[in-house]
Amino acid sequence: MSEWIPVPGFEGLYEASDAGYIRSVDRSILRSDGRVYHLKGRVLKGTVMPSGHLRIDLRKDGKTIPSLVHQVVALAFLGPYPENKEICHKDGNPANNQPSNLYYGTRSDNMYDAANQKTHWQTRKTHCKYGHPYTGANLIMFGPDNRRRACRTCRRTTSWVKRHPEDKPRYQEISDAYLEKIMEEQ
Ligand SMILES: [Zn+2]
Repeated sequence: MSEWIPVPGFEGLYEASDAGYIRSVDRSILRSDGRVYHLKGRVLKGTVMPSGHLRIDLRKDGKTIPSLVHQVVALAFLGPYPENKEICHKDGNPANNQPSNLYYGTRSDNMYDAANQKTHWQTRKTHCKYGHPYTGANLIMFGPDNRRRACRTCRRTTSWVKRHPEDKPRYQEISDAYLEKIMEEQ
C-alpha cells in the first residue's frame, strides 16, 4: 500500500503518495440548503502536457488551481522549493513523479538528466495510446533486459473486452476505471 500524506496548503482536501499520485480526500460538504453531501475521494488521473508532465486541477474555496503533479508531490515529500532550484526527474521521465525520482536541483542538473536520458525516454512514450502512464504499478516491463513496456490497465481491459465483446465501445471508460483501481492498489 502506498503512503499518503497531506498536500501542504490543501490539508483535508488532497494527499500525495509515495507512488507519485495525487488524490482527493473523502469530504462532507454543507450546502446552502442545509443538506450535507458526501464526496468520495479519488486518485486524479491528470492530463499529459506536451512536455510530458502531468497536469491536474486542485480545487479550494471554490477556486480551481491548475497544478503539476511533480510539483505537488515534491512540495509534499521534499518540502518547499529552495531558491533558484527546480524539480529534476532522476530518470528524465517527466511522468514518473515518485518522490524517490524527484529532487531539487539546478537548471544544469535538470538539463543533464534530460540529455542523459534523452534516448531512453524521449524516443519512448510516457503513456500508452489510451493515456495511461507508464509508471508505478501500471508499468509492466518485459522482454530481454526488461526493455519492453506494457500498460497493465490495457492488459486487464483487453482481457475483459475479449470476454465481453459488447463492452468494446466503452474501452476508454472501462480502462480508466481499471487504472484508478491499479493506482489505488499499489
Ligand atoms: Zn493503457
